[in-house]
Amino acid sequence: MLSLALAAWVAGQGQALEMSYPVEPDLTGVTVRWSDHAVPFTRRGDRWLAAVGVDLDSRPGDHAVDVTFSYADGRTKVVNEPVLVNAVQYPTTELQVEERFVELSPEDQARADREAAETSAIYDTFTAQRYWTDAFEVPVQGAKDGRNFGHRRVFNGQPRAPHSGADLRATTGTPIHAANRGRVVLAKDLFFSGNAVYIDHGQGLFTTYLHLSKIDVAVGDIVERGQEIGLAGATGRVTGAHLHWGVRLVDARVDPFSLVRIGAQ
Ligand SMILES: [Zn+2]
Repeated sequence: MLSLALAAWVAGQGQALEMSYPVEPDLTGVTVRWSDHAVPFTRRGDRWLAAVGVDLDSRPGDHAVDVTFSYADGRTKVVNEPVLVNAVQYPTTELQVEERFVELSPEDQARADREAAETSAIYDTFTAQRYWTDAFEVPVQGAKDGRNFGHRRVFNGQPRAPHSGADLRATTGTPIHAANRGRVVLAKDLFFSGNAVYIDHGQGLFTTYLHLSKIDVAVGDIVERGQEIGLAGATGRVTGAHLHWGVRLVDARVDPFSLVRIGAQ
């Protein structure tokens, strides 16, 4: 008889990956070692589930991760699981923005550097608590998709970092809703991002909402899934009003819609 004990995990660059195992008698916990974090699985019905992210710039090909199974009698078993990362060809987009966002003044450069350090420190925190229990939702009511995730970008003729979120159509003043329950960890104006809200959902999962015209939450607030957190706008480095929605999933930049598609719970 064929053994189906080993799952083959497959995901594209920039995609969320759901790992899942069946419930077994006496199995009390599952964790996966992902990007130097121990990510716990959550039991849902007859499955153990965890959502992890394959970064936009992950090396395509075979990877392996350690999964630890814990049993009621105190025993643990570690299985080295293969993960296949498929290359995804993302297009290049050329954009024209105000020159001050491409050739930065010394003051703006210092500010942008300071803010980059601040946001990377946020992403370096791994909150053990898991704030959410339901699937992630799109933050603009009725939006079915976003644009530009992963695009290599050239601003005013100069190459810049790839686009790490999805752009959703939204006119200035459109209500923006939290994609899920979490804690607000940043709520202020940033040089490139304009008015920005960052939500920590716990266990390495963050969502970001950029270029807002108005912010309705403050750092430390616990927001519920679907709660209004601000209004769409055109602040920061933009070509027009829209919502930039980003997901950071255990250190990986992933397409937010890939998180919605797996129904991460
Ligand atoms: Zn964007």
